Amino acid sequence: MAKKIVILGGGVIGLATAWACLKDGHDVTVIDRRKRQRDGCSFGNAGMLVPSHFIPLAAPGMIRLGLKWMWSRESPFAIRPRLSLDLISWLWKFRQASTQRQVDLNAPLLRDLNLAGRKAFLELEQEIPDGFELTQRGLVMLCASHEGLEEEVEVAELANELGVPATVMNPKELTELDPGIRMGVLGGVHFPLDCHLSPNRLMNSLEEYLEQQGVKFCWETTCDHFRAANTGTTAAGTLDRVNAVTTNQGDITGDEFVICGGAWSNLLAGQLGIKLPLQAGKGYSLTLDQPRQLPEVCSILKEARVAVTPMGRTLRFGGTMEIVGHDESISPSRVRGIVRSIPDYFPDFEESDFLGCKPWVGLRPCSPDGLPYLGRNSRHENVLIATGHGMMGISLSMITGKLIADAIEGRASGIEGLARLSPARYA
Ligand SMILES: Cc1cc2nc3c(=O)[nH]c(=O)nc-3n(C[C@H](O)[C@H](O)[C@H](O)COP(=O)(O)OP(=O)(O)OC[C@H]3O[C@@H](n4cnc5c(N)ncnc54)[C@H](O)[C@@H]3O)c2cc1C
Repeated sequence: MAKKIVILGGGVIGLATAWACLKDGHDVTVIDRRKRQRDGCSFGNAGMLVPSHFIPLAAPGMIRLGLKWMWSRESPFAIRPRLSLDLISWLWKFRQASTQRQVDLNAPLLRDLNLAGRKAFLELEQEIPDGFELTQRGLVMLCASHEGLEEEVEVAELANELGVPATVMNPKELTELDPGIRMGVLGGVHFPLDCHLSPNRLMNSLEEYLEQQGVKFCWETTCDHFRAANTGTTAAGTLDRVNAVTTNQGDITGDEFVICGGAWSNLLAGQLGIKLPLQAGKGYSLTLDQPRQLPEVCSILKEARVAVTPMGRTLRFGGTMEIVGHDESISPSRVRGIVRSIPDYFPDFEESDFLGCKPWVGLRPCSPDGLPYLGRNSRHENVLIATGHGMMGISLSMITGKLIADAIEGRASGIEGLARLSPARYA
């Protein structure tokens, strides 16, 4: 039966959810507080689809790395210490999740989600051909140090064991793979199933397509709180039903409400009394309109943790994960950290290439265990949550939409371990 689905948030996760719900014949409304001509995390990112990313951010060694880099102003990972109970609790959960046991448990799930996400993008591409420059040439992890290369060789072995193809390459093989750019690296690993796309084009094409298909968009509409009524009790406690979301443009009613508010989703969920441990992970990107050289394959500069993606004739460099709260200011030293690292991998590039290049900033929604929150919440019979994708929000967007649509329909999804994505896992 067709339902009225109200999606809170018009980033990539909100649009992907609208896409999947529309296919089930629902009446879909997307609400966002920004203008139609908006920016945000879903636009200026590196646009990579990453079956190679089966190791979550919360992994052994990350706490040590975070502490080591804490005092460096140019480091790619940083946590700004502040007196916040939410931050302290998030860090504690991050530490608990950063064990080898958790990584081993979650790697097959992240692999399955990313592979299903890739497949869903191929399906979307059939519907909007040439809509977002999907390029299936794989991704290379480029290593400038022996230590970095050793680590990546181990990841490649694990990837192959998990059924994600990965090939270790020497500098000559890397040049043969991508003659478009001169590399000064010791070696790397090619993950042929990874892809890249242009996120700006994805967002614009998908939005236009959804609108043509009948999705209603409410721009400059801020969700403030919810109107809910008690409908009973369960073993977990009381059960409520949301009738409407109250916004600056009036109440919007619906049958199902999906929270896709990105790094602000915890504030939205908090209005319903749902505790969703979430921190904003700030990142930057710089896009060269006329790069000296243009690779054909996207890459990650391993030690610098910089993602490099060709988008049309332009070249985008993205990086940094700063846990700094909802602060969208630009730190020149972090941006400098990205720029300075590039000639170590691509020696023909110079820092001066980036003079006048305006840095872009985005806040990733980060859960402490590096897994998204996905599904129904246990306290409300008609509220679903889709957020916490961290560094993989583009890659996992379309499969997220499909899984939310499955949850609304009560359909089995065929992916094992989805219970571990429950938004109630920290309740
Ligand atoms: C530098 C960088 C590089 C990245 N590279 C990649 C990559 O290569 N591959 C990949 O998969 N991912 C990548 N990511 C991550 C990816 O961009 C994010 O995970 C993804 O964009 C998050 O999408 P979202 O829809 O959850 O959030 P957002 O895009 O932030 O959308 C959330 C929306 O909710 C709205 N909203 C919030 N609160 C309210 C409210 N109260 N009322 C109304 N509206 C509200 C906001 O206005 C916003 O438009 C990268 C991120 C960064 C920063």
